[in-house]
Amino acid sequence: MVRRIAILGSTGSIGRNALRVIEGLGEGYSVFALSANSKVELLAEQARAFGAKVVAITDASCRGRLVDLLGGLDVEILSGSESLAALAQLDEVDTVVTAIVGAAGLSAVLAAAKKGKRLAIANKEPLVVAGELLMAEAARSGSEILPVDSEHSAIFQAMQTGKRTEVAKIILTASGGPFLKLSGQEMEDVTLEQALAHPTWDMGPKVTIDSATMMNKALEIIEARWLFDVPVERIEVLIHPESIVHSLVEFVDGSVIGQLGEPDMCLPIQYALTYPDRLAGRARAPQLAEIGRLNFSKPDGEVFRALPLAYEVCRAGGTAAAVFNAANEAAVEEFLAGKIRFVNILELVEDCLNRHDVKTGVSLEELLEADAWARRQVSALTCST
Ligand code: MG
Repeated sequence: MVRRIAILGSTGSIGRNALRVIEGLGEGYSVFALSANSKVELLAEQARAFGAKVVAITDASCRGRLVDLLGGLDVEILSGSESLAALAQLDEVDTVVTAIVGAAGLSAVLAAAKKGKRLAIANKEPLVVAGELLMAEAARSGSEILPVDSEHSAIFQAMQTGKRTEVAKIILTASGGPFLKLSGQEMEDVTLEQALAHPTWDMGPKVTIDSATMMNKALEIIEARWLFDVPVERIEVLIHPESIVHSLVEFVDGSVIGQLGEPDMCLPIQYALTYPDRLAGRARAPQLAEIGRLNFSKPDGEVFRALPLAYEVCRAGGTAAAVFNAANEAAVEEFLAGKIRFVNILELVEDCLNRHDVKTGVSLEELLEADAWARRQVSALTCST
């Protein structure tokens, strides 16, 4: 059987890596559908190289150019924001890789889950913002939700060694980012350049800032809570600057099982596609004798406010995580634009959460409203400072 894959967001960094992985996997895996927002040239090139049968461009103004570029090819072209959900639900597709940053892909992800597709989730929003809805939909349809986030992939892999009921704790590792050793006071003077220099992972600016504030880990706590259905009290964060142990699971008998790998997204992408099988691919095993030592320590929740906030957000449930995520996105944008200082990011997020009346038992529309509300709040609070 050939696995037919759709990639939502094929021109971004995860999407490009997913295509490299699929190329390396050979015959059993084929690309059926691809989507991009506006990078038509790259999308057309990918569609040709991988023989995609359907492509979607969400920025409808790029359609004409895409039609020209794909002239003579037997490929269906979809366009507009609705095209993502259409792509994700195609009967021929069995696996959907979701790699669209932001809220744009949420309804497509839910539609794919409703159809019972395997979902390889590479962006945080489906689980952070709509985790409750997504997991409920997947439970109804039998859709498999496979994490591509390296920590959650590690936890998912470790989970294969025991039963869910035997899990005592989930331990998420964190590199700690560039400011691990700074005090709260020193954090006050952090510049944009310093925040953009990450020690182990090579990522885009938003994720790099999230790693410096440890918001990235805070969002991963929320992801893990939904993905593995554990009370948030049983999720811990462990600082591990080398980023080799990608996360661990502690079982009731005291065994701790972790997954080790090089800091490279290709392996978690591949595992989400090949699970339950393991195939030879591009990833190289870490050379432990060369690495020599691995360090672990507890994070400081006083300095990294995002962490204790994530626990509060999980306990509040409902719209809280949507506000947490959107307020952070908006605050990071303000920081990248030079309008606020590094420490203001979490102050704004916390301020937004405090002003928000959490609603529970909500629909996707209500989650998106909460998201939009948080962005307006950040903008208003930024202007007033
Ligand atoms: Mg991660």
